[in-house]
Amino acid sequence: MIKNVFEINEIRKLIFSYLRKHPKKTCIHCNKVCVWDKEVASYMQTNVEKSTFNYVLCEECYDLFSSNMYCNVT
Ligand SMILES: [Zn+2]
Repeated sequence: MIKNVFEINEIRKLIFSYLRKHPKKTCIHCNKVCVWDKEVASYMQTNVEKSTFNYVLCEECYDLFSSNMYCNVT
């Protein structure tokens, strides 16, 4: 019997959610995993105004860059 395609896709999504290979959020500076399925490290996420570019920095890198994080960004 052929299963409903939508149902199969839902199952596939569910399986992939358990077999996640790529973290949801990594630090852009040191690539430390900050969020896998749930938060695993403290991090800061910056929503730059007038931009869709959001970036994540782990706590350590945030401390490192917090004083001049808007200075050498190209
Ligand atoms: Zn970092």
